[in-house]
Amino acid sequence: MSRRLLVTSALPYANGPIHLGHMLEHVLTDAWVRFQRLRGHSVTYVCADDTHGTATMMSARKEGRREEELIAAMNAAHQADFKGFDVAFDHYGSTHSEANRKLCHEIWAALRAQGMVTVRDVTRLFDPEAGVFLADRFVKGTCPRCGTAGQYGDNCESCGSTYAATDLKDPVSTLSGARPEIKSSPQYFVQIERLHDFLTEWTQAGGHLQAEVANYVAGHFLGEPLRDWDVSRPAPYFGFEIPDAPGHFWYVWFDAPIGYMAATAEWCEKSGQSFDALWRSNDTEIVHFIGKDIIYFHTLFWPAMLKSAGFPLPARVQVHGFLGVNGEKMSKSRGTFVLASSYLEKLDPSYFRYYIASKLGNNLVDLDMNLDEFTTRVNADLVGKVVNLASRSARFVETTGLSERYPDDGGLFEQGAKAGDEIAKAYEECDYARAMRTIMSLADRANEYVDRKEPWKLAKASERAGELQDVCTVILNLYRQIALYLSPVLPRLARSSAALLGEPFAHWDETKRPSAGKQVAKFSHLMARIDPKQVAALVAAQAPLPDPAPANVQSGGAQPAAAGATPPASAAADDGAALLAEPLAPQCSIDDFGKVDLRVARIVTAEAVPEAKKLIKLTVSLGGDQVRTVFAGIKSAYTPEALVGRLVVVVANLAPRKMKLGTSEGMVIAAGPGEKDIFLLSPDSGAKPGQRVH
Ligand SMILES: [Zn+2]
Repeated sequence: MSRRLLVTSALPYANGPIHLGHMLEHVLTDAWVRFQRLRGHSVTYVCADDTHGTATMMSARKEGRREEELIAAMNAAHQADFKGFDVAFDHYGSTHSEANRKLCHEIWAALRAQGMVTVRDVTRLFDPEAGVFLADRFVKGTCPRCGTAGQYGDNCESCGSTYAATDLKDPVSTLSGARPEIKSSPQYFVQIERLHDFLTEWTQAGGHLQAEVANYVAGHFLGEPLRDWDVSRPAPYFGFEIPDAPGHFWYVWFDAPIGYMAATAEWCEKSGQSFDALWRSNDTEIVHFIGKDIIYFHTLFWPAMLKSAGFPLPARVQVHGFLGVNGEKMSKSRGTFVLASSYLEKLDPSYFRYYIASKLGNNLVDLDMNLDEFTTRVNADLVGKVVNLASRSARFVETTGLSERYPDDGGLFEQGAKAGDEIAKAYEECDYARAMRTIMSLADRANEYVDRKEPWKLAKASERAGELQDVCTVILNLYRQIALYLSPVLPRLARSSAALLGEPFAHWDETKRPSAGKQVAKFSHLMARIDPKQVAALVAAQAPLPDPAPANVQSGGAQPAAAGATPPASAAADDGAALLAEPLAPQCSIDDFGKVDLRVARIVTAEAVPEAKKLIKLTVSLGGDQVRTVFAGIKSAYTPEALVGRLVVVVANLAPRKMKLGTSEGMVIAAGPGEKDIFLLSPDSGAKPGQRVH
């Protein structure tokens, strides 16, 4: 029986580029969609950029652009990356769309009508200079528990305690440096506790969630009353204004999942399909693919919203773990943060798609992309076992084509056809690793056949031409069966194999019938081995960057936040990584610049501060009797001995800053992202301490 499916991948955040962590999820989803289509089911696959929130607003301000310009550029870059990895959406939209606004209004009205919304005043920190309420990650101050300075507004990295941003001592806005004020403002909440029984039933029964996820939700959230969900943010905020609460905007997480619907609505508009048939019908199975960081939103908030507004519930929420590289979390400072666009400059997307599939089970385990294993596995499996079947046989039947009848192969093709059910079950369950293992065992058997029959020897004996044609007919049929099973993961290989064998891969059941009597096209190269040098270049190309604080941590950020808002420049000698990590500041006047008094100074003494991981205590001379104490965060890049005597540039009129270890009376200027990559600025020779930098 044919199914109708509506499938989504989580919406990438519009404030950063696509990296391989995003791509893991989108490849997983895309392969599932291709599999279902090959089985004859009707599938609509949509996604969109998640655009709203403070992070987008601040990036736009910093770049001096309108938010709409920023998100349009990012949307184009995201779509190009997905296309490059053969991820084929029916539609890729944006949460900043009229379709989304309309649906948000509809769902909000339903929540209001159901009495689900409540309002009460909350206090929060407000930056009087930037004119915005501050998310926790935009405030730094002293931990109220242990007194460590420089901690964010939600938790202390030193003692691990969590607190409200309003409890921080000496808070400073990281946006403007201003001292935030405490302001009260009304806050709108959805009382999802009223749907507690429904949510328990929906998450725990009916197979909507993997057992592991259902248990997690039960163990972490459903054992106690569900907290009211705050869904509003006071202006200024980049988002949709709440129609019956002027000056208040829906919080990004309210409109993000509605973006799944809006993207569908836009696709329906474009293609003449019925939105109601997909989103207001129990005949459609809605399947969301998400990472494990956003379980809460998709298994509690989202079902509560759908239920309140009278929409059908998702049939399935499929959750996966994160991607690491070489045993580490993807990290900018370790250079293991691989952008999708950087990968595509060096490597074929099929390699990544297969490697991910070969490791992905139906669970929440994190995946490690070990680059040596990546190279070995792709070369051994795809090139050594699969493509090799075609390259060792196709040339011999270029002129004759396949035998008129499929010859006796000792039951090999039949065995392969029978394995199809097990492979299909594994795909359906998203146990791709099991599917790939089963397919590779078929490839092993086919290669044994090739080794036994040695077609290259038959080719040398003209009297055995008929035998050669039969052997190659068997090999190419086994190859076709395998390539068809792999086609959800490897659509490029499917296309080139279909061209070689003269018929498209139209349906899964073609794995059950061997081909005979067909022409075979001239063999052309199907897939190259990975050169380990290309992989090494991939990592080397990732110039280490500082790991930015998650800009919009309250969004749950569908994926780890990435810095910058413009697509990376292509490989020029000087790449755009630094500008990407830290976009240019808004224009300032010469008068603004004049306020900063930069002076040449000589480092007189330097000592490491044992209590501080990063700090070196410097005394610098500005000439005469002007000596300053400056604490510089450069310990990771310089030894104290290397500093004494050298000339540097300091900000001489910076307000003194009290620190636990003493007062810092200025700042030494340096460039670079941090860690080993800190570069002090020095004047050319001849400059004297005390000279001003103009
Ligand atoms: Zn602390």
